Amino acid sequence: GTQIVWFRRDLRVRDQPALAAAAAAGDVLPVFVVDPAFDDAGAARTAAIRTALAGLHAATDGALVVRSGRPEQVIPALVDETGADAVHVSGESTPGGRRRDALVEAALGVPLVATGSPYAVSPGRVRKGDGSPFRVFSPFARAWLEHGWRAPAELPADIRWARGVESEPLPEPPATSAELSWASEEGALERWAAFLDGPIDDYDEHRDRPDLDGTSRLSIALKLGAVHPRTLLADLDRVAPRRGRAAQRSLKRFQTELAWREFYADVLWHHPRSASSDLVQQLRGIAYDEPGELFDAWCEGRTGFPFVDAGMRQLLAEGWMHNRVRMVTASFLCKDLHVWWPYGARHFQAHLADGDVASNSHGWQWTAGTGTDAAPYFRVFNPVLQGQKFDPDGDYVRRWVPELAHIPGAAVHEPWKAAEGYAHGYTPRILDHAAERREALDRLAGVQR
Ligand code: FAD
Repeated sequence: GTQIVWFRRDLRVRDQPALAAAAAAGDVLPVFVVDPAFDDAGAARTAAIRTALAGLHAATDGALVVRSGRPEQVIPALVDETGADAVHVSGESTPGGRRRDALVEAALGVPLVATGSPYAVSPGRVRKGDGSPFRVFSPFARAWLEHGWRAPAELPADIRWARGVESEPLPEPPATSAELSWASEEGALERWAAFLDGPIDDYDEHRDRPDLDGTSRLSIALKLGAVHPRTLLADLDRVAPRRGRAAQRSLKRFQTELAWREFYADVLWHHPRSASSDLVQQLRGIAYDEPGELFDAWCEGRTGFPFVDAGMRQLLAEGWMHNRVRMVTASFLCKDLHVWWPYGARHFQAHLADGDVASNSHGWQWTAGTGTDAAPYFRVFNPVLQGQKFDPDGDYVRRWVPELAHIPGAAVHEPWKAAEGYAHGYTPRILDHAAERREALDRLAGVQR
């Protein structure tokens, strides 16, 4: 009989264990539900989802059925309509996804079959010797490697797509930029092949440099499941023996970054409330300011700190921000503006195409110092020194802050020292970093006393 495959964070056909399981059991009806919960996905993520869906439509030979509505109504209705035997999904690990799946399962008269997950190792699997979860990254990463993962699932040779089920029109994909095209399976695999073919060899050296195109830009594809991380991990192993020593260090480093993604999903699985509150209990008492005008200035890239403003403007323009700049802008909100990190996380989530509750909320907590790692609360990034170090020629700032385009080289990080620094309307600094750093440490001392 018919097997429904309900696609969610797995918008691909290759290395897709739920699809493979369905294809082995019968005719496959591929389904995507436009859930009202997506309403707060933001324009960038919506554009990325539509791009990935167009790819999935082509990859399923036009069989993809799109329906709008709440999944606990849409999916059971489709089962009734088609007489399907089962509904196949990838296992979900976020609090919202688990809640949604429980509702659907309760409303279904047929099994909801979960096969695989969006991770190399399903969240919750990697444990300490005594069965408890990890709270620190490095030992998690070692245990994760030791645990290992399956080889990528084969693409079933002859999938029989179920036909004749009515679909809403596919949501219109936007005009695609190069970056957006990497959100679909085909585009992501192309981008990955090009990155693996050379640029990855310099990853260790270039990954912290927002002025260079030194990272994979696959976070959107990974978020949407246009590519499975296991595919990437298998390719790293395949090419490593033929690369030199420095390149191998880069491959290893890339594997470690994928491990961060897995770690944060694991933490969220064990601590669902860490999506929106501090993991470290003792730090829950820190005094914060309500977001006001300065928060708006941060959101819009008008703080007067060039590296911070460049990042916030890249976020608004591209729906993506370089990792180093995510850390610096997040630190600025928490330590210079004294605003609690969930406000910033919400702004990121609304604008990032790769916005992912596990990576975003724990990336924020890593920066705030209230999260998993040894990363201490008292570490405060200096936004000027960070710019000088990681954007040494100032190219990144000039790309995103046109009011500073006339200042050459690294001088762009300190317009207050440049002749004519403010000639083109750049905002003066909204605060004194040294004073706010002291203020952040005073507030920390307040809860430690
Ligand atoms: P690459 O350097 O090419 O890394 C490859 C992949 O590894 C990434 O695509 C990503 O899946 C994973 N990865 C790399 N670094 C991290 C990390 N620190 N934590 C988790 N996974 C990582 N990443 C998201 O995918 N979604 C988010 O919503 C998100 N929010 C963040 C918020 C803050 C405050 C911070 C500091 C980091 C956040 N990150 C988030 C992590 C990281 O910034 C992005 O994954 C990375 O910039 C994506 O670019 P890339 O694909 O070119 O990365």
